[in-house]
Amino acid sequence: MFVEEREFDSLSQALKELEKGFDHFQGRENKESTEDILEILIEVAERMKDNYPYHHPMYAGQMLKPPHPVARLAYTLALWLNPNNHALDGGRASSAMEKEAVAELAHMFGWVEHLGHLCSGGTMANMEALWISSQIQPGKILASSQAHYTHSRLSEVLKLDFSPVPVDSLAKMDPKALEDILVTGHVGTVVVTLGTTGFGSLDPLPEILELKKQYGFRIHVDAAYGGYFRLVDNLDCKGQKIFDCLDQVDSLVVDPHKHGLQPYGCGCVLFPDPSVGQLYKHDSPYTYFTSGSLHLGEISLECSRPGASAVALWATMRLLPLAKSGKFARNLAKGRRAALYLFEHLKNNSRYLTIFPPELDIIVFAPQAIQASTISEYSKRFFERAAELDLHLALIELHCELVKEYWPHVNFDQTTVTCLRSCLMKPEHFEWIEKIIQILDRIEFED
Ligand SMILES: *Cc1c(COP(=O)(O)O)cnc(C)c1O
Repeated sequence: MFVEEREFDSLSQALKELEKGFDHFQGRENKESTEDILEILIEVAERMKDNYPYHHPMYAGQMLKPPHPVARLAYTLALWLNPNNHALDGGRASSAMEKEAVAELAHMFGWVEHLGHLCSGGTMANMEALWISSQIQPGKILASSQAHYTHSRLSEVLKLDFSPVPVDSLAKMDPKALEDILVTGHVGTVVVTLGTTGFGSLDPLPEILELKKQYGFRIHVDAAYGGYFRLVDNLDCKGQKIFDCLDQVDSLVVDPHKHGLQPYGCGCVLFPDPSVGQLYKHDSPYTYFTSGSLHLGEISLECSRPGASAVALWATMRLLPLAKSGKFARNLAKGRRAALYLFEHLKNNSRYLTIFPPELDIIVFAPQAIQASTISEYSKRFFERAAELDLHLALIELHCELVKEYWPHVNFDQTTVTCLRSCLMKPEHFEWIEKIIQILDRIEFED
């Protein structure tokens, strides 16, 4: 299972080391007895059994990936002090570690300079990016119709105009459709999604950068899911080109709690231009915000933030550096290989309907049928039967427009169609893919 005795040994040794830093402060005692605590912990364990096995390769549904043991242990170790990275007073060491960790993330995207920090997740990170962007260049926010719904909702929160941009047949933002909106003027920021939540599709950043030259909008990249794929060596050629021009964008979001092996509560927002720091606090001079001297509380919308998150991320990157084709990258690439392998299998089997090959590690497919309503019904049945066999998938509701050209024989008797979706995020998915396929092929979904 996922409990490793040795993990507790390491934690207990590290805690003893940490205590040495504070051993002249005596007299702090726990008021509750350990028996009482244990009783409640057992109760918690009982309650937590009511979950899908997120840590196991047979969980191949939503975007869930277990944190690395080093992240889990470093996080727990830091909790003994519970530092607050709002300001240096609250978390001296963990703020320094946050700056180092964030600098490595910026470096991964090929940035020389940057300003950025960790936050609770992609939602908060995107909110800050849109907030800053709208101050520098007021105007409409555009994101593809496949972008995360957070962008339209955040635009409401920030009282900004929002319009969706139609996607092409690969669920990527359509540059022609984008230009049709750009010519009408008033566009401030275009959100480029690298790794859409539904399909893991990559918006065509090189083409959008060309349009930027002509129309002069800001580009915010939402790479909450896909950011780390910059490190892998098995993207297709177009995907590689997209990740190669990340040094030309105005802001970027990546979620270490998605593909970065972190516990929840770890997103990151980055700007290549440190001078945006002045927009967080108007009365501070620009020089205050050069990356050497930034004070995290001054450049973050959130106030109290877990120093433990920064410690966990820092520790994970010490063990698994963000090197192109390094161990971390190879693990990420394995999930993608699993997805490509599964796609080929599904495509060559008449039981299934597929759409287009995955750009990252997310697969969308459906059981074969000739009516959209039957496909939807079969997908739901398939999802349940798979769960009975301990294989956990996810469902996705698609507009029929997106699949029509791929499924010419299907009668679209409704506007949307329910399909199956699988995020193959764990490296072990590659070793398990044959077993997963055996289960998929065994499932009966017809009446
Ligand atoms: C997950 C995700 C978000 C939302 O991030 P949270 O960390 O869940 O708040 C936004 N955009 C994309 C592309 C995502 O994948």
